[in-house]
Amino acid sequence: MAAPPPPGPEAGQAPEDAASAILTIDLDAITANYRRLAELAAPAECAAVVKADAYGLGMAKVAPALARAGCKTFFVATLGEAEDLRGLLPKATIYVFGGLFPKTAPRFAEFGLRPVLNSLAEIREWAGFSAHSNGSLAAAVHIDSGMNRLGLSAAEVEEMVKETRLWSSFDLTLVMSHLACADTPEHPKSEAQRSVFDHLRARLPKALSSLANSAGILLGRAFHYDLVRPGIALYGGSAKAKGKSDFAPVVRLDGRIAQLRDVAPGETVGYGATRTVRRQSRVAIVAVGYADGLFRALSAGNGEEGLAVHLGPHPAPILGRVSMDLITVDVTDVPEHLAKRGAWVELIGPNVSLQTIAARAGTIDYEILTNLSTRALRRYRGG
Ligand SMILES: *Cc1c(COP(=O)(O)O)cnc(C)c1O
Repeated sequence: MAAPPPPGPEAGQAPEDAASAILTIDLDAITANYRRLAELAAPAECAAVVKADAYGLGMAKVAPALARAGCKTFFVATLGEAEDLRGLLPKATIYVFGGLFPKTAPRFAEFGLRPVLNSLAEIREWAGFSAHSNGSLAAAVHIDSGMNRLGLSAAEVEEMVKETRLWSSFDLTLVMSHLACADTPEHPKSEAQRSVFDHLRARLPKALSSLANSAGILLGRAFHYDLVRPGIALYGGSAKAKGKSDFAPVVRLDGRIAQLRDVAPGETVGYGATRTVRRQSRVAIVAVGYADGLFRALSAGNGEEGLAVHLGPHPAPILGRVSMDLITVDVTDVPEHLAKRGAWVELIGPNVSLQTIAARAGTIDYEILTNLSTRALRRYRGG
């Protein structure tokens, strides 16, 4: 009997045939990064930060994949994110960094969520609510060790210590703080914060301790305590201000060539006529723009060498301004079989790293990731 034809849609019917951009997210790379971080941090527990829709990559896919890889504790920024996550992971421990807004305690309790209490007012509100429930609602307390953003100051910790009734009214499961300069290993601030953290956490009732984000994990054992909270490293971003990421890349963004045109020397390309072409050029119009997360700051002015995107192994610089839905790319030096209508251009991937794009756009890979396209066709691999 003849083998059946391979499964697959008719020509022209596959989703990618109609896509102008494809965002590929490698869940296996995320879980590999998780295992690597967990090994670095052991015996401390490795949690995962999945705020902002898992840094733009889709919490609905990412969080269950991490749970299958062994992750038990998750952090998000908002109550809304936490409720979504609870729907995905009924058994996980979920903390909310953003703390407790007035009158939201019942919602935390209803979904079994743990606020990170960032101020005296939040601790009082949670303790009061917990005392009227069964007196054992879990929460973390954030102490400020020098960042001056969220968390109790040293003076507030001292004030709290005396109020023993407060502490017996809820279940303090975690004491945490956050590092301001962990991405710069030689910065003296991390060590200073560590010593403030040690001093202040010793004043509070006994609980698990947590200080390290991704970069903090790389600072070494002294920063790991009982639980670490990586985010960016899971997603292939760089945990250090300088140098390449130590973690597996996770995202790939490809854009489609909508059209090609020949542009004569002296002609200009794009909005504002900011780019005058010097030589007879072949220009590819690629159907991805700043609405897809390719920041307008990646525009290349007259005479400037634009960010090199890739067609296979061939670099091709962006010309002129990045517009909402389109970029223009100089493909004069790219073989015609690659630079053709309907072909794909690598905008983020093995040849165009997140770090390169972030540096060109004057930002950090966190901001690139959290602005990635929701318009692109999303493809998840592995998991
Ligand atoms: C976002 C966040 C993290 C994760 O930080 P990364 O640098 O992405 O690893 C950890 N802790 C707190 C308090 C955060 O807000």
